[in-house]
Amino acid sequence: MVDMKKIVVKFGGSNLKKKEDLSKILSVIKMYKQPLVVVVSAVNGVTDRLIDALANVNHLDVDRLLIELSSIYQSFLDVKNAELETRIYEIKDLLLGTKLIGQVPDFIYDQVLSHGEKCSSLLLKHYFNQRGLDFEEALPEEFGLITDGRFKNATVELEAAEEKLKTFFQEDKNYVVPGFYGIAGGQVTLLGRGGSDYSATSIGYCLEAERVDLYKDVSGFMTCDPKCVISVKPVKKLNYDEAAELSYFGARILHQTAVEPVRQKNIPLYIYNLNSFTSIGNPDTIISFNGSVTRTIIKSLSFTDDLAVIRFKGSNVGRVPGLLGQIASTFGDHRINIKSVVTSQTSINVLISSQDVEKCKKLTSKMRIAEVEDVFYRTDISLIAAVGDGILKKPGVAARIFSAVSRHSINVEMISAGASHVTIYFLVNLKDRNRALQAIHKEFFGGKEHEDS
Ligand code: ASP
Ligand code: MG
Repeated sequence: MVDMKKIVVKFGGSNLKKKEDLSKILSVIKMYKQPLVVVVSAVNGVTDRLIDALANVNHLDVDRLLIELSSIYQSFLDVKNAELETRIYEIKDLLLGTKLIGQVPDFIYDQVLSHGEKCSSLLLKHYFNQRGLDFEEALPEEFGLITDGRFKNATVELEAAEEKLKTFFQEDKNYVVPGFYGIAGGQVTLLGRGGSDYSATSIGYCLEAERVDLYKDVSGFMTCDPKCVISVKPVKKLNYDEAAELSYFGARILHQTAVEPVRQKNIPLYIYNLNSFTSIGNPDTIISFNGSVTRTIIKSLSFTDDLAVIRFKGSNVGRVPGLLGQIASTFGDHRINIKSVVTSQTSINVLISSQDVEKCKKLTSKMRIAEVEDVFYRTDISLIAAVGDGILKKPGVAARIFSAVSRHSINVEMISAGASHVTIYFLVNLKDRNRALQAIHKEFFGGKEHEDS
């Protein structure tokens, strides 16, 4: 039989903390009636541990690290598994070599980090097999999850991968797959932090899955980050654009690019909290083509502090053709991602990630652009995004956002609306970020505000 649609199911590192978590996963898996591709992240904390090991490679005690990994992974099983042990030790030579040269080339970095996921997939396979479930392990290098080759933060080449995956996963079997990486020219390339979500949705795309189910340890999307606003509410339904914008602008629940593949093929994406799981088909958040229209219009607020603004000032900069192109191509050549651009007659404001500031400073100091009189950097800022389909069409929504903020005497530094039809975003001083979120949240969703901060 080769015609049953598959479901892609992903479990995150937060679902893999202790032995009992595996029995939860098992009981969920048993409820599915269709062939599955289970995508899995590294055990909780392992990716950070590996990052840390590579950051201090000169002082790395390779044997100790491997013993530590072995005790973490083997602790999930009743008896130590030999195949898993071999897998864990597969990176030994790589680590020793890296230590010897005292440097971590990108291709080694990606290979070492992907190891956490590869240990998880083998662990799950054994666990499932021992309990009578038929699962095979399949690795991205075997089935061909092809990427653009960019280390640390690759993009999946969906069309190329689709052809390979369709052939590989033809049969109605169950598979378990490590997330977080794909391959390019035989090299492992990571998909960015939290990349297993993106692995799952990419595989969903390639197999034209019936659905992609992501399991987390939080209850789906909320109206705002509960760390910033007390009275947040769950968001049951989002359309693809809304979910993509919220993730792009900092909602930590989903990888930035994860929505893209499923959006292209109109595959529903469900988010469940494994800790409060009730039944399949009843997730906390459903992301699909049909969102829902709510009275508030705004579905959720997100924010990011990982942001800096470079302001190119000059009395005429907004009118000089080609200027922005020149800036963008210089940054592009150095792989600096421009998150957004806001221009006016007298300034071009380029939004970048905080981590690119030093690089950009070097580049801009070398740029010779006659019309630019000064270049300023701002890093003490936060971007707030209000997301909801119809936000730009419904009169008064923007006005409500900004009057809520101004009632609290918070200065809005820059506004952008229209780049996406579901988002209005603006910048505030970092110290005002929580107060701004609280003010807008109260205006649209009611409830209490924090008293301090
Ligand atoms: N383990 C990786 C990370 O922590 C990938 C993932 O969790 O999705 O970023
Ligand atoms: Mg993770």
